[in-house]
Amino acid sequence: MKYKVYCETDEKWEEFDCLMPREECPVDSNHTIREGSLSGAGASDEDYKVLRNKIIDRVVDEGFSNLTTQEKEIASENFCVSKADRDSVHTIDEQVAFGIEYHKKSTIARSKRRKVIEAEVYNRMQSSTERYDLMNGASAMIDAYVNFGVEGSLEGDDVGLFDYLESRVGTPFENTGLLSKGYNVEGMTINEFSERLMDVLKNGNY
Ligand SMILES: [Zn+2]
Repeated sequence: MKYKVYCETDEKWEEFDCLMPREECPVDSNHTIREGSLSGAGASDEDYKVLRNKIIDRVVDEGFSNLTTQEKEIASENFCVSKADRDSVHTIDEQVAFGIEYHKKSTIARSKRRKVIEAEVYNRMQSSTERYDLMNGASAMIDAYVNFGVEGSLEGDDVGLFDYLESRVGTPFENTGLLSKGYNVEGMTINEFSERLMDVLKNGNY
């Protein structure tokens, strides 16, 4: 979801490239906006988790207590703030309802990311044996990532896909993860390939 506001100074609608709008013109905060014109601008093709991270950055920069009421609600709806802060703007029943939406949108974003890494694997690895070895070895972790957001030990999970892709020290994949495999990858080294897959899955860069 993007937001837009009618700017009287620009004499046109201005869009916010974020889930969290300010009640002012995004081009220049000194502009005059039409009162009550702030509204949603439909579904966005952008990766939900990327958009959500922008809210988190905003909350960290501004502090929850300095946000407008609408911004507090948006931060709470998208689970970007603590339980105590969520309790200050939404009832538990509302939080359950938002939780369902949050899980749904996050799963869609992670599914998109999986499709991107599948395209990377199927196009950059010419050996079907190696492709099978990689995708079969990681399939349960890929499912756990997509369906439940399990990432890896550094991200607060016991163990997960990110540990495997980076052959992280101190995890079961230290010597058996992607970096330890002698796969042939077209156009990049195995380390660059690992970084590429991580950039897609972790940062939503695709
Ligand atoms: Zn303006």
